Amino acid sequence: MKKIALEEHFISPGLIEYWQPTMTDVPKPIYDKIHAALTDFGDMRLSSMDGAGIEKAILSIAGPGVQVEPDAARATAKAAEANDFLANVTSARPDRYLGFAHIALQDPQAAARELERCVRDLGFKGAMINGNSMGAYLDERQFDPFWAKAEELQAPIYLHPADPVQPYASFGSYKELTRATWGWGVETGTHALRMIFGGVFDRFPGALLMLGHLGETLPYLLWRFDSRAKLYGVTLKRQPSEYIKDNIAVTVSGMFSAEPLNCAVAALGGSRVMFSADYPFESAAEAGHFMDDVSLDEALREDICWRNAARILNIPMQG
Ligand code: ZN
Repeated sequence: MKKIALEEHFISPGLIEYWQPTMTDVPKPIYDKIHAALTDFGDMRLSSMDGAGIEKAILSIAGPGVQVEPDAARATAKAAEANDFLANVTSARPDRYLGFAHIALQDPQAAARELERCVRDLGFKGAMINGNSMGAYLDERQFDPFWAKAEELQAPIYLHPADPVQPYASFGSYKELTRATWGWGVETGTHALRMIFGGVFDRFPGALLMLGHLGETLPYLLWRFDSRAKLYGVTLKRQPSEYIKDNIAVTVSGMFSAEPLNCAVAALGGSRVMFSADYPFESAAEAGHFMDDVSLDEALREDICWRNAARILNIPMQG
């Protein structure tokens, strides 16, 4: 079945310096392969998309990008440069490639302006933020201008995993529990919960957050969030689960497994779950085959593969 994929990565020359340190443990041949995939916008990427039935990919940088740049002015300039790079890629193949903006939040007013430029002038579909920005999280009031702009533009903000500020003490020497195994889920799920409990969606009820990995375990925990919010006297306008259902949409990136997919659909509804591969860190072929073969009602499969993304991101599609 044809698909729209939302978490598909590339790297631009100006952002390699931030991405490379995340690859220090990776053997050279694998690094070279990933690097080649991230910098290719021709046959390699397109044939991988074709093999998975991906008609359109929304491209975003491989993190962490300028989220880890200490100099705010440099971060803002380098993000704009990466967005211009991506605009050249998407305008060369508008039939296959769309874009998520890369945004430096270190200067929140400049972040709002760059989001507006990317959505209005470059035609991007929203933005992807790679975790905390030098230890700052998206619930902080300094980011209200950014959320106000995202809400005004109806631009979804995709929160991508990144490493926590400090390694979790509880992980001890279990390095294998960090990153994609468990650590990124804890960090990214916590970041999303900070937004909910911090009232971001009370202040900006029209804002839409996107999470990969079928919601970073949040769909599994709805009852518990609501139960404890009551117990701890949380004063939000709504129950935590209601924000998760109404202000968050999720993708299957890097979670090609029926049980969490069924949980996300049951918790959030079939209109809030979308396809993604997480190219080139996951196999697009594996993602595509999973989505084509997993036991699902066929109308729901179509919704997850492309209809939901086309509706939410306003992407014209045939059929
Ligand atoms: Zn990713």
